[in-house]
Amino acid sequence: MEFRGAALRAPDRPREWFPHVAVAGRSNVGKSSLLNWLFQRKLARVAKAPGKTRTLNFYLVNGSFYLVDLPGYGYAKVAKQLREDWGREVGRYLVEDERLAGVVTLVDIRHGPTALDLDLQEVVLASGLERLVVLTKADKVGRGQQAKMRQQVQRQLDLPRPPLTVSVQTGEGRRELVAAIEDLVTGWRTGHQRGD
Ligand code: GDP
Repeated sequence: MEFRGAALRAPDRPREWFPHVAVAGRSNVGKSSLLNWLFQRKLARVAKAPGKTRTLNFYLVNGSFYLVDLPGYGYAKVAKQLREDWGREVGRYLVEDERLAGVVTLVDIRHGPTALDLDLQEVVLASGLERLVVLTKADKVGRGQQAKMRQQVQRQLDLPRPPLTVSVQTGEGRRELVAAIEDLVTGWRTGHQRGD
């Protein structure tokens, strides 16, 4: 996986007609850990100061699709500002970029979806994009609580299937998540076959 740059506005994004899989989640949900773990490669570390990281970060995976790290959100102090930025800039990307195959939303299994996660789900649903919800840090709770949270989050977000659960600590759920991301990419390609 190669880092291919940070951009927000359409003209600055990569130009190739590769599918994009966006990854979203509140700050501290475990997104950087998960991306490094999924692709077993250190990603370029972006600024972590709250509210600073507002660009989309593009990573080319296997020369075939872009993993798009959306800005983290959720620090209470700057939530309002971030919310506005989300609504305007990231929201525009989610609604307009036709290369988007789907949005992976990370949710901490201990806390469930935040208000911003719920907002994001609405944007994703309204755009007709595929949704993949993933509960992170599964090792932090017992089996019973895992099952309970899967049910609860499925209901809350009105998902057709229970969310995946993953743990960077135990390796749980890695294969399933990679397969689900590949399915998003394959589904997009199937829907975007170019005729001649
Ligand atoms: P980000 O802000 O979403 O990029 O979150 P980070 O990847 O920096 O992770 C936030 C904290 O959660 C760090 O202390 C990680 O070590 C921890 N963390 C991330 N994933 C897991 C996990 O699967 N299990 C446990 N126990 N801790 C995790």
